[in-house]
Amino acid sequence: MNTIPVFDGHNDTLLNLHLPDRGEGRSFFERSDLGHIDLIRAREGGFGGGFFACYTPNPEDDGWTEESALTVTENGYEVSRASSLDPEYARGFADGLVKDLYRLEEESDGALQVVRTADELEGCLRNGIVAAILHFEGAENLGPAPRALETYYEAGLRSLGIVWSRPNAYVEGVPFRFPSSPDTGSGLTGAGRELVRECNRLGVLIDLSHLNERGFWEVAELSEAPLVATHSNAHALCPASRNLTDRQLDAIRDSDGMLGVNFAVGFLRGDGGESEDTTLETVVRQIDYLVERTGIDRVGFGSDFDGAKVPEGIGDVSGLPNVLAALRAADYDEASLSKLAHENWVRVLRATWRG
Ligand SMILES: [Zn+2]
Repeated sequence: MNTIPVFDGHNDTLLNLHLPDRGEGRSFFERSDLGHIDLIRAREGGFGGGFFACYTPNPEDDGWTEESALTVTENGYEVSRASSLDPEYARGFADGLVKDLYRLEEESDGALQVVRTADELEGCLRNGIVAAILHFEGAENLGPAPRALETYYEAGLRSLGIVWSRPNAYVEGVPFRFPSSPDTGSGLTGAGRELVRECNRLGVLIDLSHLNERGFWEVAELSEAPLVATHSNAHALCPASRNLTDRQLDAIRDSDGMLGVNFAVGFLRGDGGESEDTTLETVVRQIDYLVERTGIDRVGFGSDFDGAKVPEGIGDVSGLPNVLAALRAADYDEASLSKLAHENWVRVLRATWRG
């Protein structure tokens, strides 16, 4: 029986519950077979909480999805570039998701709490309360200048993916390709540099997942905070554009940052394939590699629950104990498991946040 709470670097549960065609009317408070996270399955899986992403799909993409835009190539795939998003629309949509999160907190009757400090996060983990970090995946909703960040900070925002896999006013995201280097485009704009400084000033975590390599290095140079990729894997084992090269992993290690292992099968597997028939050993192999490269203090989980296809041995959030069991079987001791499960996230968030 797993007793270690798992705090997780990325889920798309807010979007899944928000969009009728995704969540199909399921409730966060009732057990469902749809999606990956609800409160009941969260408790079964020992889910201590995580980064709850506010992500805005582009209505102008006219049916663009990662699947429909996908072209199969000789030994992989290429997804045509997603077009940029209207900031005004993004603001309205993301504000809706922020409201959804606070509504969940209110309706949860104390079972879920939006956390703003490392102490609050630790308190939730101790007391079995699901801890939710308000996270934006893509900064379009801030508008063309990063001044709005402070307003959202006051509203509880503590983590910002400055870009998703499409260009915005701040930087270019990395398109989905396999096999491909993450070095796919240009770096930070002037406003992007200002945004990084503003995140540092307020103590908002900067998420490097979905950023192209050039942008990554520019943030690494500029930012004073530990480098963090909330849901990315090792490029050496799965050469998808979304994964991180050894040099990038070394930079994360040297900054005393961390990364969350993504359970999306396409970012785990050596062949980049999309099959749920992906073993837990594949997950363990990624973790082994990342731990070897960056250290046991710099790896955690970043499941991508409710946003990606995950191995059938995990299934949904209730399957988290299976991941811990596979790690135990691979000789990780309890102290190491606690680090991977939540202690590393707590450490990095404490080092990044102002409180
Ligand atoms: Zn993502």
